[in-house]
Amino acid sequence: MLSDLIQMSARLGDNFELVQGAGGNTSAKDSEHIWVKSSGRVLADANQEMIFLPLSLDCRKAIIEDPSTDVSRYIVDPDKYIGLRPSIETALHAILDHTFVAHVHAMNTIAASIQPSLNDRIDEVLCGLNWVRIPYRKPGEELATNIISATQNTEIDIIILDNHGLVCGGDTTEKVESLICEVEARLAPLMNSRFGTDSNMATPTTRINEPGYEYVSDDTVQQLAFDEIALEALSAGSLYPDHVVFLGPGVAIAREGESMSDAVARSNKVRGASVKSIIVPGVGVFAQAGLNEQSLTMLYCLARIGLRLQSGTVTSLTNSDELALVDWEAEQYRRSLKT
Ligand SMILES: [Zn+2]
Repeated sequence: MLSDLIQMSARLGDNFELVQGAGGNTSAKDSEHIWVKSSGRVLADANQEMIFLPLSLDCRKAIIEDPSTDVSRYIVDPDKYIGLRPSIETALHAILDHTFVAHVHAMNTIAASIQPSLNDRIDEVLCGLNWVRIPYRKPGEELATNIISATQNTEIDIIILDNHGLVCGGDTTEKVESLICEVEARLAPLMNSRFGTDSNMATPTTRINEPGYEYVSDDTVQQLAFDEIALEALSAGSLYPDHVVFLGPGVAIAREGESMSDAVARSNKVRGASVKSIIVPGVGVFAQAGLNEQSLTMLYCLARIGLRLQSGTVTSLTNSDELALVDWEAEQYRRSLKT
């Protein structure tokens, strides 16, 4: 069972459409334990190192009764796992009955869930599957509370988490992976992928050299600065939680003639925390100098999602949703493992 979990995790972790950086988490249950990913570990590393922790199965009852339960109390042989924490999203794994559960930041699912104009189409294309959709809630206790009420007395094996991703459960890893593929494939016709197709990109861009900021060397990321739909969507705010965790609240979008430092200062003031990426429309995408790899990975993820939206009218996280993630100690821990 554990070896099936490891193999599934490595496969999911290798697929950037589903898992970016240390995002996503998986679990498996046997008669005594639930094995869940450790916070901050990378699914793609599952074959190289032990990224899972065993918790006593008793944690399930405790979480369902009280989603604020401290799950680290249920680690089996805690002395063996000093310094490791169960995933922030352990509760959602524990709540579901399925032997195997995977939570991924699937890009078609995220992109579809943030566009209100697609709501009817999502219902149509997912018809026939055992699925439920949950509005955005902060990962952890708040999300778990909603999952408990949404899955009570129903046989749900697919959960669409708005502005966040996808959860699938099954008795085998094959079932879980096939459900993830099925959902993503059914949502694919609702996407308008524009990677590498913007003719404006063919014209040389005027680069800005401003101390403290670096041009991001990635064509897909750069395409964001030339894409009207993505720019409109990004002006609404952060689209999903891992963006906030690694890049701060949203993206600063410079106004005509505004310097990057002024755009960042304006954005920081409005949002109450530091943004780490800047778009100068028609010019390029820039990042705070010295941004770590994990944060740059999230910028690439943002481009892959922004450039598949049909409409720039999106539901973003609220500013209080953003600030709840920026100040969250559990996320500071997760970030610290990757810096
Ligand atoms: Zn997540």
